[in-house]
Amino acid sequence: MGFSTDCIHAGQEPEPHTGAVTIPIYQTSTYVQPELGRHKGYEYARTQNPTRAALEANIAAIERGKHGHCFASGMSAIDVVFRLLKSGDHVVAGENMYGGSYRLFNRVLEKFGLQFTYVDTSSVDAVRNAIRDNTKVVYLETPTNPMMTITDLAACAEVAHAHGALVVVDNTFCSPFLQRPIELGADIVLHSTTKFLNGHSDSVGGVVVSNSDEIAEQIGFLQNAVGAILSPFDSWLVLRGIKTLAVRMKRHEENGIAMASFLANQPKVKKLYYPGLPDHPQHALAKRQMNGFGSMISFDLGSKENAKKFLDRVRLCSLAESLGGVETLISHPESMTHGSVPLEMRTRLGITPGLVRISVGIEDIEDLIADLENAFDGV
Ligand SMILES: *Cc1c(COP(=O)(O)O)cnc(C)c1O
Repeated sequence: MGFSTDCIHAGQEPEPHTGAVTIPIYQTSTYVQPELGRHKGYEYARTQNPTRAALEANIAAIERGKHGHCFASGMSAIDVVFRLLKSGDHVVAGENMYGGSYRLFNRVLEKFGLQFTYVDTSSVDAVRNAIRDNTKVVYLETPTNPMMTITDLAACAEVAHAHGALVVVDNTFCSPFLQRPIELGADIVLHSTTKFLNGHSDSVGGVVVSNSDEIAEQIGFLQNAVGAILSPFDSWLVLRGIKTLAVRMKRHEENGIAMASFLANQPKVKKLYYPGLPDHPQHALAKRQMNGFGSMISFDLGSKENAKKFLDRVRLCSLAESLGGVETLISHPESMTHGSVPLEMRTRLGITPGLVRISVGIEDIEDLIADLENAFDGV
């Protein structure tokens, strides 16, 4: 089936008792067993829940994978993936990734003996050179947050697989509408469903998708053993959100391109980062690898003072962490999402005090531009 059809129908058989077209919220902790040793496939709700199962099947289908497992947050999804490893294993990860992922690696997982090397994954050679005998995972995000650097997923997968390492891609920034890493060779794709998949800024969740029965079995084991599952209500919200993923993403894309063109002509913008612009250094790769460029844009206003004046004047755009909602969210990576990244690393990556990131929503673009024009007047 096509992508939009799968968004609406995959994993969602009508409810068997009444024929209800939407999957009910199975708000139960356990299930009656008709006799000892016999049950209907449901024993206890940490292990199985029909609402969550519907969402897991749905996301697996739209990522073009076979299996999905949902978690209480994007971070818990990432955490579970690393529980596939053991003390002494090594990971090559992007140096510019979601700040919370860096914090998990650096301040939690290292304590358990996992080793991390951070490289600029836009260079396939840098990835290759960082691989060691004990490298088990190559961990990628593309475009990166907030610098919008693109990594060649197919080329990195080839390098990783030649060394027997798994390729794990955090696809949160794109959603499967814009990019499907499994088709490019990734072994595991994960998301914070909090962002584009749910799309309405009213739920926190995560998902792990893979194509391999063996990996899925281990993730399923960990989901039950560790227990950070997505609740039935949140599962239902994300299912509801995904029904409109394709139409939302088309509009995000349209607004993203219009916003980037507006910013490109704004003299107070010192630097602009958006892979949809022909002068982005990796525009050609983005065009080849993605089905569009999305609505995440970063721009540099030159100083913290300018960024503050600008951010204090926006009215329609909300100054907030997070991204991927229907409403436009604007943020200051240095002090908000990337506060936990060391200063030296932030500076090297370009996460300067003047950097602003915008997640362009699906409002009328004229209203968004008018809001930003007004904010620029104060800079
Ligand atoms: C938000 C985000 C996460 C973390 O997800 P939560 O749902 O907030 O736990 C991980 N990766 C990326 C790219 C994100 O944007």
